[in-house]
Amino acid sequence: MAEARRLYPDFDITRSWALPDVPPLPDEDLGRYLTRLGFSEAQLQYTRRSYGNATGEALPFISAEAALAEMRDTTGGQGDYRILDGYDSVYTHLARGLDIRLNTPVTRIEWSPDGARIITEQASFEAEAVVITVPLGALQAGVIEFAPALPESKQQAIRSLKMGPGIKLVYRFAEPFAAPETMALYSALNPPMWWTPAFGHGTGEVVWTAFCTGDWARELLAQGEEGALMKALDTLRTEFSRPDLRPVDMHLVNWPADPYVMGGYSVTPPGQVAARAELARPVANRLFWAGEATASLPHVATVHGAYLSGERAAQEVLAAR
Ligand SMILES: Cc1cc2nc3c(=O)[nH]c(=O)nc-3n(C[C@H](O)[C@H](O)[C@H](O)COP(=O)(O)OP(=O)(O)OC[C@H]3O[C@@H](n4cnc5c(N)ncnc54)[C@H](O)[C@@H]3O)c2cc1C
Repeated sequence: MAEARRLYPDFDITRSWALPDVPPLPDEDLGRYLTRLGFSEAQLQYTRRSYGNATGEALPFISAEAALAEMRDTTGGQGDYRILDGYDSVYTHLARGLDIRLNTPVTRIEWSPDGARIITEQASFEAEAVVITVPLGALQAGVIEFAPALPESKQQAIRSLKMGPGIKLVYRFAEPFAAPETMALYSALNPPMWWTPAFGHGTGEVVWTAFCTGDWARELLAQGEEGALMKALDTLRTEFSRPDLRPVDMHLVNWPADPYVMGGYSVTPPGQVAARAELARPVANRLFWAGEATASLPHVATVHGAYLSGERAAQEVLAAR
């Protein structure tokens, strides 16, 4: 977006409003909070499509307190950067020298004050300590059995947070149809958010991607894969007044249906801000917790949040030893 603004001074896709310093109520959701501040229906609609959609859920499921902490955060950096070698180069770098077993799902973790045993579909491992980084959705679905069961406070934290349903719909076309300076759009239809990832690459590929969460994702997923792709395509056709648009290829990325993810990323529901710290809290100095859902509030649901939570968990393990 920053690059688009530099290249096109008239670029005007995003709106923002300075919020007055009115503290949210502890269990207030973002929609009720903004309504209390006097947001118009048009402003709320825009917030649903932009901030709400990107946060992973409909406004009634988003804690106003958590949202404000994120909006007012100044520690996350300002810029967006593209990793030229692809995102996997981050993981390749971080994994150097580590013994990583792929395709080895953990099914059970036995733990006691003396140590832990991790049972996978292939083998079992003895450990002094375990750092659990599976997504919140996997924890909520109970894909890993804990023996003994996790303390009630930990189970409560797992239940209290929400895994927002996040999906992407990707279309490839043979011919360009948008003005060359059009990089992204917010639609009043479903999906609300579209962009062309090929923008600025000069590859000649014509690819448009939609991203949606919350009620938009639920509505599309209810129509099955083919139905979701066709309904979203109708939105693109309407937005560009091109009823004849036909992709040469299309694909739905359905994270809620992925048994190793089960959603997009975690959302803090109203009144559940404290659940983040509880989820992150070590159990008996044997079970440690990392991953985006355990990150500190302004960084949840992000890659850098997941990274920072891993550093925090590593420090906790070292301190426990
Ligand atoms: C569409 C979309 C767009 C996003 N955009 C951005 C963005 O622009 N910027 C940003 O910062 N963040 C973004 N995010 C969020 C970011 O991707 C996540 O916050 C981050 O990847 C979470 O990292 P993690 O390590 O906590 O979890 P994950 O990356 O989900 O890693 C968890 C791992 O656990 C594994 N696992 C699951 N179950 C088991 C099991 N039983 N045994 C063993 N392993 C298991 C999974 O296979 C997975 O590899 C986006 C997310 C989505 C879905």
